[in-house]
Amino acid sequence: MVDEVNPFESLQEQIDDAAEYLDADEGMIDRLKQPERVLETTLSVEMDDGSIETFRAYRSEFNGDRGPYKGGIRYHPGVNRAEVKALSGWMVYKCAAVDIPYGGGKGGIEIDPSEYSESELERITRTFATELRPLIGEDKDIPAPDVNTGQREMDWIKDTYETLEDTTEPGVVTGKSLDNGGSKGRVEATGRSVSITAREAFEYLDRDISEATVAVQGYGNAGSIGARLIEDQGADVVAVSDSSGAVYDPDGLDARAVKEHKSETGSVVGYEGASRQLTNEELLTLDVDILVPAALENAIDADLAEDVSADVIVEAANGPLTPDADDVLADRDVYVVPDILANAGGVTVSYFEWVQNRQRFAWTEQRVNEELERLVTDAFDAMTTAYEERGTPNFRTAMYTVSIQRVLDAAEKSGLFP
Ligand code: NAD
Repeated sequence: MVDEVNPFESLQEQIDDAAEYLDADEGMIDRLKQPERVLETTLSVEMDDGSIETFRAYRSEFNGDRGPYKGGIRYHPGVNRAEVKALSGWMVYKCAAVDIPYGGGKGGIEIDPSEYSESELERITRTFATELRPLIGEDKDIPAPDVNTGQREMDWIKDTYETLEDTTEPGVVTGKSLDNGGSKGRVEATGRSVSITAREAFEYLDRDISEATVAVQGYGNAGSIGARLIEDQGADVVAVSDSSGAVYDPDGLDARAVKEHKSETGSVVGYEGASRQLTNEELLTLDVDILVPAALENAIDADLAEDVSADVIVEAANGPLTPDADDVLADRDVYVVPDILANAGGVTVSYFEWVQNRQRFAWTEQRVNEELERLVTDAFDAMTTAYEERGTPNFRTAMYTVSIQRVLDAAEKSGLFP
C-alpha cells in the first residue's frame, strides 16, 4: 500500500485530465472538484464494560446536480477526511457513468470493527445514524455499505432513522437485508459489474475471456464474487489474496471453494487446493491476463506498475491505482477498466433497490440482473466511443469525460442559485 498519495488529490487530477478533452468553463470544472459539504463528528459511545469511547466519523456530500447524494459507509482504521472526500467524488462520476439519477456522497468511521462486540457496533452505528439524521433521507442523501459494513449496519441505520423520524422510509439506505427492503442481486452486484466489464474489455480487444487467467487482490465481497463470475465465463482464477497473504495455482483455483475456506478460517491462506503461497506484491505482478485489484486505494503505484504483467486491469476497488501508475500503464498499453465503471454494479443495484422501495414492489432477480447488464454495457460503450472519438490516453479519462459532461449538462440546465 502506498500511503503518501492523497486520494482526494488523485480524484482532482483525474478530473483535470478529463477536462482537457472537454470544452468546459474552468470555474464549473473547479466546482466539480470540491465537495459541497463535509460533516466531521465525534461519536461518544458506551462500551459493554460501561466505559465511554470516542470515534471520529465523516460524511461528505460531494455534488447533487444529478440527484440525491449517494454512497457507502466504511468502517476502517484508515478512514480520514481526504479519503472520504475522494470516495464521495468518485461516487458522483460513477453514478453519472452508468447514468443513474444520483449525486455522490461517502461516509466512514475511523475504527477497526473487529475489536468491538456486535452490541458495541450496533450502538456505534446508531449513534452515527443519529448524527447523520439531518443530512440523510431518500430524496437527500442515501448511505449504503462499503468496506466492513453490510446489511446488518444498513438495517440499524434504517431503523434508527425511521424511529427518530416516526415514519417508514426504506429508501433512506440501500444494501439492506431482503427482510428489510433489500434488493435481490445486491450482494453480487459489484462483482457482477466487474465480470461484465472484464468480458466487454476482452470483446473490445478481440480476445476470448474463457481463455484468460485472472489474479484477484482482496477476496472480500467485490473480489470474491467478481472472481466467481469471471470463472463462470470459463476463465481460470489462478491467484487470490487477502490482508493475510495470497494463494496461487497455475492450473486455476476453485473460486467458490476458496471463498468457503475464507469463510471458515477467516483467510484465503491455507487453502488446500493451492499449489503455493505468494506475497501480496507477487500477486500484483503475476503474469496473468486479468488483474482485479479489489482491496483498498493506492494498491499500485508507478514503480509497481512497471512490473505489472497483466494485459487488462479491472478495478473492483475504488482508486487502487495512483495517477502516476495510470500513466505508466497507459504507456505500456495495459488496458484499465476504471473503478467508476467496473465496480458501478453496487450503486446501480442500490438504485434499483431504492426504486423498488419507492414503488413498494420487489423485482425478480432476473430483472435486476438484466437491467444491470444493460446499464453497465451502455456505459462501457459510451466509454469506448469517447476513447476513440476524443483520443484520450486511457479508458479512465474517456469515462470521466462522459461523466463530467453529464454532470455539467445537469448543472448548466439547472443554473446556479442563489
Ligand atoms: P471487503 O471488506 O468485503 O473486502 C476487502 C478485502 O480486501 C478483504 O478480504 C481484505 O482482507 C482484503 N485486503 C485488505 N487489504 C489488503 C491488501 N493490502 N492486500 C490484499 N488484500 C487486502 O470490502 P469490499 O466491499 O469487497 O470492498 C473492496 C473494495 O471495493 C473497496 O475499495 C470498496 O470501496 C470497493 N467497492 C465495494 C463495493 C461493494 O458493493 N462491496 C462497491 C463498490 C466499490
